[in-house]
This record gives sequence, structure tokens and C-alpha cells, in this order.
Amino acid sequence: HAKNDGANRYLFFNDSMNKLAVKRLQLENLIRHGLKEDFFTVYYQPKMDILSGQLVGMEALVRFITPKRGLISPASFIPVSEETGQIVEIGEVVLRKACLDVKRWIDQGLFHGRVAVNLSVKQFMLPYLCEQIDDVLQQTELPSYHLELEITEGTVMQSPKMAIDTMKKLRARGIHLAMDDFGTGYSSLAYLKQFPLNTLKIDKAFIDDMNTARGRNMVDTIVTIAHNLSLTVVAEGVEQAEQLAQLKQLRCEIIQGYFYSKPLSAADFTQFLLDQKQNKPRLAAVPVSI
Ligand code: C2E
Ligand code: MG
Ligand code: MG
Ligand code: MG
Repeated sequence: HAKNDGANRYLFFNDSMNKLAVKRLQLENLIRHGLKEDFFTVYYQPKMDILSGQLVGMEALVRFITPKRGLISPASFIPVSEETGQIVEIGEVVLRKACLDVKRWIDQGLFHGRVAVNLSVKQFMLPYLCEQIDDVLQQTELPSYHLELEITEGTVMQSPKMAIDTMKKLRARGIHLAMDDFGTGYSSLAYLKQFPLNTLKIDKAFIDDMNTARGRNMVDTIVTIAHNLSLTVVAEGVEQAEQLAQLKQLRCEIIQGYFYSKPLSAADFTQFLLDQKQNKPRLAAVPVSI
């Protein structure tokens, strides 16, 4: 059997597979270096109430910026760090930095909502996840009700029964839970109603499709499912005023996307908060025409 050939395994790698393996190894080393040198930082993307146009929260999004190579896309380093397990350490860094930034904005009187932090499957499965989160919240002095965690269908469906237990523990602490990228994974409606979620985030792919009747019907259906389960709906990747107007008609509550703002550095987000406070929203909410 090929797999048991041991020393001869290299025979099964062709040239392009070899290049890929080398690239992965280089990225793994770069990530290790980046963790040591503190090259991982957090950007924030506003989440806006669709009716009032007011800020309700933000999503923390990791950025890997090295002096030599500049910005390295999450699309490349997240999958590799998932495989190597480095995502666990990256995730803790992101959680800690996000809690610190938000604690500061709260203390400055600039913010009183929730920050949403993405959890990878490996983090979610950690037996000490709740303790780790407790520690970070305690050390950063951020009250748990300012925290929301985003998890994907794939993460909870890996082991749904265990996921429900973990989710209940997190909810018992006052932490909110959002189902991220909804509709792109395989999730079971039977389980969806058992998961103690607060929020459902409709993936950008569905929002992109809203220029067709079928696409709009699909979003309408997802919003209806969410509301039947008493979940708040966030639309991800809203870029156009037309999408915003349609989402308003479909009774989606919260939008996140370039229409309002791209993810911002902590410094730029502070300015965004100051603008909000002075009632200078960057873009006025678009009225619904019924
Ligand atoms: P996600 O959690 O679904 O995050 C939303 C992604 O959509 C972000 O990409 C955001 O920049 C992008 N986005 C938001 N609005 C728009 C829009 O209007 N147009 C377009 N074209 N894009 C928009 P980003 O920051 O590159 O992150 C990609 C993915 O990487 C995230 O998807 C998430 O799955 C993962 N990720 C990011 N940060 C973390 C983290 O701290 N931990 C973990 N485990 N995963 C993370
Ligand atoms: Mg997310
Ligand atoms: Mg998402
Ligand atoms: Mg996504």
C-alpha cells in the first residue's frame, strides 16, 4: 500500500505538490515568527442597525502585517494555521487584543455594544475554551456581555452534541453567539433550532445574489427561518445602497459591509466612533420605498 511505503512516500509528490508543500512550510515558519514578534493585529468592521444607521457592534478581524512582506491575507494564513494548530494561539491573541481595545472604547464613553470575535473549530473544541475566555475577560476587565463569538456551521456540526454543551456554557456567561457564513456550510435545520444562538449572519454570497428575484427570495427565506428561531439577522458584505434597501424591506436587522465601512485599524475605528458620537455618520441610512 502506497501510504505504508515510508521512505518512498516522496515518490507520490509531483512537482507542483512539492512547491505547495514548501510554500506551506514557509508560511508556517512565517506565522511562528509573526507570533513571536507580535505581527498579528486586529481590525474592526462596524455592524450597523439597519433602521437607525447607528453602530451596534463590530467584528474583530485578524490582520497579519510583516515589515518585510506587508499584509498577508487571512485567506492564505488562516487555512494553514488551522492545519498546523497555530490558529489556537492566533485566536487567543485576537481575543485579548479585541477585549483590550473594546474595554478602552467603553471606558472612553465611545462604545457600549458588543465586539464579535471569530472562533476557529480548533479553538471551539479546546477542552479549556471557557476557562481561557474567562481568563482573558478577567485580565482585560471586559464584562462578558460585551463579547460575541462567531462560529461556523462546520464548527458546530463537527460534533453537534458537544457543541450545544459548549455553547450553553458560553451563553451562561452572558456571551452572545452568532452563526457565521450561514448557508455556505452544511447545517441541519433540526440542529439549528437546538443551538443556543443569538444571531445568524447571512453569507456575502447570498447578498451578492440579491440582484435577481431568486436571490432575493433566498435571502427572504433565510431571514424568515432566523426570525422563526428568534435570531437577529446580520447581512454580511453589503456594498450597495440597493442591497441595503432590499434588506430593510426583508426586515434584516443589522448590516455589515463596505457600504458603511471596510475593516478599520484600532486608530481609525476610534475616529469612526468619534464621528458616530458627534452624529456624523459617514453615510446616511437609505430610506425604504414601499
Ligand atoms: P468572516 O468571519 O465571514 O469575515 C467577513 C469577511 O468579509 C472579512 O474578510 C471582511 O473583511 C469581508 N467583508 C466584509 N464586508 C465586505 C464587503 O462589503 N465586501 C467584501 N468584498 N468583503 C467584505 P477577512 O477579514 O479577509 O476575513 C476572512 C475570513 O477569515 C473571515 O470571514 C473569517 O472566517 C476568517 N477570520 C478573520 N479573522 C479571524 C480570526 O481572528 N479568527 C479566526 N478563526 N478566523 C478569522
Ligand atoms: Mg466572522
Ligand atoms: Mg462571515
Ligand atoms: Mg465569510
